[in-house]
Amino acid sequence: MSEVKQAPGKISVVEWLLAVLACISVGLLLIPSDLISRNKMLYAKDYPAHLYTDASQGGQSEASWVDQSNLKWQCRLEDKTLSPYCSMQLDVAGFSGQGLDLSDFEKMTVWLNYSGNAEFVRIYLRNRNPNYYRPEDITSTKYNVVEVPVVELASGLTIEMDTIFVADWWLSSRKIPLKYAHPEFNDIIYIEIQTGSQVRDGTHQLQLDRIEWSGAWISQADLYKLIIVVWIVCIFAILLYRIVRLNIQLKHNQRYQSELQSINELLNFKNKKFEDLANTDQLTGLLNRLGIREALYQGQHKWKSERQPFSFILIDIDHFKKLNDTFGHDAGDSVLQAVAETLSGNIRRTDFLARWGGEEFLLVCPNTTLKEAEVVAEQLRQKVAAMEHPEVEPITASFGVSSMTEPDLKLLFKNADNALYQAKSAGRNKVVCNI
Ligand code: GH3
Ligand code: MG
Ligand code: MG
Repeated sequence: MSEVKQAPGKISVVEWLLAVLACISVGLLLIPSDLISRNKMLYAKDYPAHLYTDASQGGQSEASWVDQSNLKWQCRLEDKTLSPYCSMQLDVAGFSGQGLDLSDFEKMTVWLNYSGNAEFVRIYLRNRNPNYYRPEDITSTKYNVVEVPVVELASGLTIEMDTIFVADWWLSSRKIPLKYAHPEFNDIIYIEIQTGSQVRDGTHQLQLDRIEWSGAWISQADLYKLIIVVWIVCIFAILLYRIVRLNIQLKHNQRYQSELQSINELLNFKNKKFEDLANTDQLTGLLNRLGIREALYQGQHKWKSERQPFSFILIDIDHFKKLNDTFGHDAGDSVLQAVAETLSGNIRRTDFLARWGGEEFLLVCPNTTLKEAEVVAEQLRQKVAAMEHPEVEPITASFGVSSMTEPDLKLLFKNADNALYQAKSAGRNKVVCNI
């Protein structure tokens, strides 16, 4: 039945949890995204590289290695075709054939040394997609391209990934459907460095050193979503916890209430028992003086308010002292019990019988005239006189009958007592009425 209750003013576990969660949420919202970023570094020298020129399109540009181990190469552009170019292609899928997944990065930083008169170089991130890629044709990779100024490349130029677009010439020459026309970085198998579009001839030297991609572990939008989802889950969990606890508390209270109720019922029952004991004469089981009080007040009240007749019969066993003296106190008791039984067995249901004291009884007769009460008394007298009690002499009783003429119980009793006295004086075993 005992329950661990939280001391007032003490912070609960749930409140602690909410406070910690609130701190984490604010912290996550305030932390600069760079601090929770992730990076991928690619060193160009680690991958096989090949040089290409515009020869396949009828051009005469030439590309050659200056220092192949350090991927330094040069291009001599010849303005003999529509778009003269040289390029170095890095095979980043390598032997494993596994392309780079750059789709979650937001920025790309390129370190590249250039000498020549060009202002821009092109960088292609070539993606493989089974919807248009054919292994036998390396140009079927998607040409995601960006053209960057050469001046900043030596110290590392950072560009946003979303500035990279798909080369028009590739989309149109391949007749790529619109649904595949967007940039894709999930399976990059070639990275290509190419001379820029604005220069048509001259000698250019290029050396790609490294490329780094960076991005937040989680996008700002996803972070907001995550925080909201965690809060919603927490609030639901707390609500669920509270509901379960309330349910347990409710069941506990119901149990407690039903226990209290059964204790109350028991107490009421005991009270009733004590009340009965207090109102009952132990020897005869009849009402005692206290028990008959209610009937007396009721009779007087009805007489006063409705003029309802109210009678009263005092009954006294004749020569009881002698009986006691002759046959003993126990025999006297059993005679008292027998008389009580005879009287109560022959009264009307509306009357109230009490042991008034000693060997005297009182019969209260509500709604009964003196005449009617006299009849009742006479019947009872005969019944007592007819009692058979083997151990003792014949038993008789005297009856004093009285009716209420004034709202005075004392007077009523006095009148009945006088009547009883007259019955004794007249030789006992008599009924005498007295108004
Ligand atoms: P009367 O005919 O004039 O009424 O004479 P009585 O002897 O009946 O009256 P009295 O008042 O002289 O004696 C009553 C006796 O009743 C006296 C007392 O010992 C006895 N008595 C009173 N209460 C009890 C009781 O509970 N048990 C027994 N056995 N006797 C009782
Ligand atoms: Mg007496
Ligand atoms: Mg007597």
